[in-house]
Amino acid sequence: MKAIILLGAPGAGKGTLAERVRTATPYQHVSTGDMLRAAVKAATPTGLDAKGYMERGELVPDEVILRIIEERLASGAPEDAYMFDGFPRTIAQAKALDAMLARLGGAIGQVFVLDVPNDTIVKRLSGRRICRGCGAVYNLAAIPPKVPGVCDHCGGNDLYQRPDDTEATVLNRLDVYEKQTAALIDYYREKGVLVRVDASTTPEAAAEDMLSKLR
Ligand code: AMP
Repeated sequence: MKAIILLGAPGAGKGTLAERVRTATPYQHVSTGDMLRAAVKAATPTGLDAKGYMERGELVPDEVILRIIEERLASGAPEDAYMFDGFPRTIAQAKALDAMLARLGGAIGQVFVLDVPNDTIVKRLSGRRICRGCGAVYNLAAIPPKVPGVCDHCGGNDLYQRPDDTEATVLNRLDVYEKQTAALIDYYREKGVLVRVDASTTPEAAAEDMLSKLR
């Protein structure tokens, strides 16, 4: 089993990048944020556990995250390849992932860190809008829909803001990233698997940079 990781602050563009490169690579996109939002919407036990943490912009406890990742990997085949987005987010999660992959005869190939200046991150998060119909992600400043309020992909007209993209929660999420997740950059640098991607301009440029470095 092969795995790569997309690492970066909230708003760096991990999900957008993953969707852009997905068809050009063998990797399945695994986003713990998307899985948790689906669980909250369906009001499953995991969703009920996770909801409050997500609303406050805090990390969901490691054991909840590791359970959903284990279930996701167990539902796949041994030859599957994964692109993790938003996971791991703590050193404990990274170590648990190493152990899981070792058990499954796999390893982490590369860890792509998305470099984006802080002021750009805040602008991206406050302008992010998502299509309720198909999940397409827009940014009112940088990647607006062609017709205001209407999804380019499915024509739906309900573009909403994630509840955790409001200002107070965004600041908390950035703080959580600095305190708990940024340490993963050193963790993976020491393992010699870290690759930097310039994600400061357009999704196209970030995808091109990542694909040129993907081995
Ligand atoms: P994201 O869509 O990746 O920004 O995640 C949204 C929210 O889901 C985060 O602010 C956390 O509350 C929670 N979350 C997602 N992935 C993880 C993870 N690996 N560890 C802990 N919490 C997570």
